[in-house]
Amino acid sequence: MKNKITILIIASIATLIALSGIQAYLIENTYQLKKRAFIQETDDAISDIDNHPELDSLMDILGEDLRVNLGDYENDRISKKTVIQKLRTVSDNINTPYMQRYQKELDSINLGYKIRYKRELVSIVVFTGEKNDTIFPSSSMQNATFLGEDFKDKDSHVVKNSRTFTEFDFITQEKDSVFLNTFDVELKTRDVILITDWKSIVFRRMATLLICSVLLFLFVVGLLYYSIKKLINQKKITEIKTDFINNITHELKTPLATLSVASKSLKNKEIRNSEEAFDNTLAIVDRQNTRLQKLIDQVLTNSLSANDIVLSKDLVTDTDYFNDLIADFKLATQQHELEVENNICSQEVVLRIDTFHFTTAIMNILENAVKYGNSPTKISIETFVKGSTYVIKIMDNGPGINQKDQQQIFDKFFRVSHGNVHNVKGLGLGLYYTSQIVKAHDGEIIVESEVHKGTTFIIQIPIH
Ligand code: ADP
Repeated sequence: MKNKITILIIASIATLIALSGIQAYLIENTYQLKKRAFIQETDDAISDIDNHPELDSLMDILGEDLRVNLGDYENDRISKKTVIQKLRTVSDNINTPYMQRYQKELDSINLGYKIRYKRELVSIVVFTGEKNDTIFPSSSMQNATFLGEDFKDKDSHVVKNSRTFTEFDFITQEKDSVFLNTFDVELKTRDVILITDWKSIVFRRMATLLICSVLLFLFVVGLLYYSIKKLINQKKITEIKTDFINNITHELKTPLATLSVASKSLKNKEIRNSEEAFDNTLAIVDRQNTRLQKLIDQVLTNSLSANDIVLSKDLVTDTDYFNDLIADFKLATQQHELEVENNICSQEVVLRIDTFHFTTAIMNILENAVKYGNSPTKISIETFVKGSTYVIKIMDNGPGINQKDQQQIFDKFFRVSHGNVHNVKGLGLGLYYTSQIVKAHDGEIIVESEVHKGTTFIIQIPIH
């Protein structure tokens, strides 16, 4: 049974982990889809911005400048590097009006979030005759940004790749002659944007899904926890009940076997003829009968709950009551090596208790101290007044009860087992009954114990 439950718990946890993994995978997929959809949405929204005539004319200034510079380059008047430097100077000059216009267009679309924009130079290649001459990129010219903000971020992305192929004329002077030459220029650029808080926007769009997933996950974990807890509890109850049946069967066996032998003896003529033997056998029958009666009473009475117990309360003086109780207890345990320390409260306090039930409740604790205690047993009974409560402390020098068992000690049928073995007879009802009686008196009982040191039961009942 224990193994089965362990397997069940492991299987449930493994299933939960697998389900969580699948859920995480689905969330990740959804996240990627939402991210792509959001980026696409942004790209579509801004795709037409740079077609604005004002931005076009600013780009024309740049194009014209490039044409003149490339002409100079072809005439060997300037280097490649200077072409790019000049391009940068012009782009720096037009950058502010370009970006202001760009921003205005962005504002008019009303995206609802901020984006950063830049235009990068990919390449400038000049074709003259059969020769290709790459002006950009080159090892000495790395930075490709020529319009917009010069940002670097792994989350930026290209929204547009442009390629223009233009035929340029330029004038060449050789000796005294002037020629009109043409060359083709291939100009490649790309537009890059960065949506600054795209992560929070995508997460916001996934909020419902995320919240539902987390809630569902917590619900499943809660359900699993509850089911396993119930299962373990159920198992514990079954074990306790089996234990109780074993205990009671064991307790009943001895008196029944003795009664069977006694009744057989009574049929024996020799015993019937001897008055002494007959009386002895009858006494045995009587004792065993009383024992059986006591056992049944114990089960019937001790298993009552606080609500079922009807109290008949009397007024008693604590000193008289406890001194009598201790005297009775000492008498009943004469054959044990026992030392009882009496520290009963000296100021006579009047208690309102059901003496029959309360005495049995206290006796259960005292008898347990003897039953489970070491020999010689030392018990200390102390009582005192604390505010409006009367405190009864019963301490013993017994084996003690470990922390885990202390929590269940007052449960019905609970017995501390050593492995699976109970060394001392009992039904696990004594402390349950005691706690119910204390409860019926509107009081409370707690246990304090340390293994190998001893146990202390503390009862508090209100003083009326
Ligand atoms: P029972 O004595 O019939 O088993 P109880 O309800 O009286 O049932 O006690 C429950 C368990 O508490 C016992 O099985 C015993 O192991 C433990 N116990 C009770 N009193 C003491 C004590 N004074 N010292 C050590 N263990 C105790």
